Amino acid sequence: MAVIEESPAPKRERWVAQWKELFDEVVTTGLCTGCAGCVVSCPHDVLGYDHESGGYKPFHLEDELGPGDCVHGQKGCTTCTRACPRFRLWEEEADDHLFARQRTQEEVSGIYSDILLTRATDTNVHEHGQDGGLVSAILLWAKQEGYIDAALVSYLEGDGSTWKAKPGVAATDEEIIATAGSRYTYSANTLALDEAIERGFSKLALVGMSCQSSVPPVMWTRKVGKISKPIVFNIGLLCSKTFDDAIFEELFEAKYGLRKQDMVKMNIKGVFQIWMRDGSYHEVPLKECHAWTREGCTHCPDFAAEHADISTGGIGAFNDWTLTIVRTDLGREIIGRMAKAGVIQTRPGDDDPGAIALLHKLAAKSRKRWPETAVPKPRLLPTPAPKPAS
Ligand SMILES: Cc1cc2nc3c(=O)[nH]c(=O)nc-3n(C[C@H](O)[C@H](O)[C@H](O)COP(=O)(O)OP(=O)(O)OC[C@H]3O[C@@H](n4cnc5c(N)ncnc54)[C@H](O)[C@@H]3O)c2cc1C
Ligand code: SF4
Ligand code: SF4
Repeated sequence: MAVIEESPAPKRERWVAQWKELFDEVVTTGLCTGCAGCVVSCPHDVLGYDHESGGYKPFHLEDELGPGDCVHGQKGCTTCTRACPRFRLWEEEADDHLFARQRTQEEVSGIYSDILLTRATDTNVHEHGQDGGLVSAILLWAKQEGYIDAALVSYLEGDGSTWKAKPGVAATDEEIIATAGSRYTYSANTLALDEAIERGFSKLALVGMSCQSSVPPVMWTRKVGKISKPIVFNIGLLCSKTFDDAIFEELFEAKYGLRKQDMVKMNIKGVFQIWMRDGSYHEVPLKECHAWTREGCTHCPDFAAEHADISTGGIGAFNDWTLTIVRTDLGREIIGRMAKAGVIQTRPGDDDPGAIALLHKLAAKSRKRWPETAVPKPRLLPTPAPKPAS
């Protein structure tokens, strides 16, 4: 009998890249989103991060080798590059890990299994939510069912009147409801990981914009280790940009007289919508807001939170529903069970074909922002349809 010799699986190249490479290839090239994946992963606590206007980027806290090199990196520590979802082949690696294949160039919004419209059945949750309240409904239900024991979310500091978004841990129903809704300035929710671990939580959901939702799969596939283990569920928020905190004073107040302490809600639906305490409603053209786009967003290629278990957005004709992109088996299980339990209402995404078309259009637009000088995959777009013969 012939003996068939199996060729050994190709070995992964030894990972040697450290802070020096991260600094040169991501932090100083404009690819860094400020997701803070590197900061929370650093086992030596030598990466700092200012969660403030003009900040939102990691920096090295030790002076020995200057800002662009690391003593621990020189000795072999590679954790920060393993955690960075903009370092080298991040998109391919996260795709492979989650879906056992890579997206094709036609899959401009990433790999998914279903698109739905959903909303929380509970009126209180629905009212507090930005769109359909799905994200908060998932957190409440997943906690009750034992999938998670807490979530990394975004709070508003103090009594909310400064509109300063800050990362935090939501562990009770009250905290989940209190942190519902969207803020359009940056909140690196990953930064709440340390607090969650200190408080003894071991099954966490991460809620975050696209850039943050690529952090867990990149950490898992590049074997960052212990720090990545508590994140078990990943909810993404569709995102084309976030604004620098200065937009409140320099645009909304200076030009429109809208003081942030008097604002009660904001949304983006083609325009920046602002609701005030006195009941008035205002629209600011997005074109006027562009000058305050946070630097970390300008090269971001991911509108659709392509590496989340479930990605959520507010585009489309149905204002009080959440556009819901179900990507992984876990995402499908959770949405299926929630629908069955009557915790959410669902309708097919095909009820709003315009929303799906807009999703893909905005995803393509974001992909064009990825620089040609970086790895090519995130820029790949669908092949244009041939022009009809005249
Ligand atoms: C900065 C930003 C930009 C967005 N851009 C778009 C867009 O262009 N198109 C689109 O369709 N949808 C966008 N979204 C998503 C949309 O606003 C809703 O978050 C989404 O539809 C879920 O709504 P919901 O009612 O189901 O969630 P909710 O139940 O209201 O829960 C929202 C969750 O988001 C968290 N959160 C709020 N603000 C932030 C923040 N700044 N950073 C991190 N986490 C936060 C909250 O803590 C809460 O857990 C954006 C969201 C954010 C935060
Ligand atoms: S993109 Fe995120 S992980 Fe990468 S360098 Fe910037 S903050 Fe760190
Ligand atoms: S556009 Fe949104 S997802 Fe991309 S870097 Fe900015 S905040 Fe993150």
